[in-house]
Amino acid sequence: MITHPATLDVERTAGLDPEVLRRDFPVLHQEVHGKPLVYLDNAATTQKPSSVIDALVRYYEHDNANVHRGIHELSQRATNDYEDARTVVQEFLGAAESEEIIYTRGTTESINLVTASWGRANVGPGDEVLISAMEHHSNIVPWQILCEEKGARLKIVPINDDGEFLLDEYERLLSDHTRIVAVNHVSNALGSVNPVREIVDLAHERGALVLIDGAQAVAHMKVDVRSLECDFYAFSSHKIFGPTGIGILYGKRSVLETMPPCESGGDMIKHVTFEKTIYNDLPYKFEAGTPNIADAIGLGAALRYVNNVGLEGIGAYEEDLLAYATERLAAFEGVRLIGTAKHKASVLSFNLDSIHPHDLGTVLDREGIAVRAGHHCAQPVMDRFGVTATVRASFAFYNTRAEVDRLVETLHKAREIFA
Ligand code: PLP
Repeated sequence: MITHPATLDVERTAGLDPEVLRRDFPVLHQEVHGKPLVYLDNAATTQKPSSVIDALVRYYEHDNANVHRGIHELSQRATNDYEDARTVVQEFLGAAESEEIIYTRGTTESINLVTASWGRANVGPGDEVLISAMEHHSNIVPWQILCEEKGARLKIVPINDDGEFLLDEYERLLSDHTRIVAVNHVSNALGSVNPVREIVDLAHERGALVLIDGAQAVAHMKVDVRSLECDFYAFSSHKIFGPTGIGILYGKRSVLETMPPCESGGDMIKHVTFEKTIYNDLPYKFEAGTPNIADAIGLGAALRYVNNVGLEGIGAYEEDLLAYATERLAAFEGVRLIGTAKHKASVLSFNLDSIHPHDLGTVLDREGIAVRAGHHCAQPVMDRFGVTATVRASFAFYNTRAEVDRLVETLHKAREIFA
């Protein structure tokens, strides 16, 4: 049983004060069904600070133009801001070069880019692709389609009853046929933090590449792709306080250079004749057409905001909040926690008695509490735990113990309603 300290350790959290930071998020200051909003659905999408909203408005009010194409002032400003944001992402991930940062629509598109480009060129009959039993559908279905198309085998690394990745089973499943391993850094359904460094080392020993789905990690912990040595790292802007519709695929230059383009058209070319097209350099080879300029700039603003708050403080604060929430729910009669890994981040999945998660979610919503109820796009995880759905409370640094208390109080109410 975890015992949380009675009060927050202010030194460990580098003085992070959620009450002060909440002021940066306009959406949090509202009532829902006549109750103050408690937003606990951050794993689905996070709220946006004013600095991100302002960056979008500023772009459209002052700089809107197409990038890379115009010699006029507005186009140059748009291009500078769009490329500056790429540098912010590069530094945020610790990538060696900004050419290794590809803009996509989000994690889903990043993974699809890898399966469609690298996968089609490198996976063949008899080859194997390894994923874990706790992947989001986005990191299952593209690999399934690739394997079906190529006559390759999709192998699944099992997890234990706490929702932990089984490293010894993984080692056993790796073989000389393994071409790539694709795992999430943090599970969206369970909150488990996976041993990605060890996963990368073991895969590389067998000559396999590694893609890490970082959708649920980047907002909660410092990620350094060079020290992880992963070949690909994917994340979505909207899960780290940035706009929707933009995301990132990091790839090692040595791997990206060998990959054919995925989509084709404008911007991804150097020279076109009817006989032959010379493709553009990285990263533009993978960015066909007019990109999502405003949202890339918004993502840059979001990462700057996170850097200012500090990921170390965020991690420590959320660890405390998760421990507090876990302890309160573990002590709640009738609650079954799904996902009790030793190393977790920010996600608390549970069921209460035999109340359907959708019913529980509806009761919580009537009290102004936003949670997710469903299979969380991870149906194989639900199957593994013998449930069809869970209620998921997921935290950000702007959540508080008082909000966890409101969640717990409302669960008591729900129990009375459904008794
Ligand atoms: N991977 C994980 C672990 C996720 O949690 C999600 C979204 O919930 C995704 C991938 C897909 O992200 P997006 O819908 O932003 O592409």
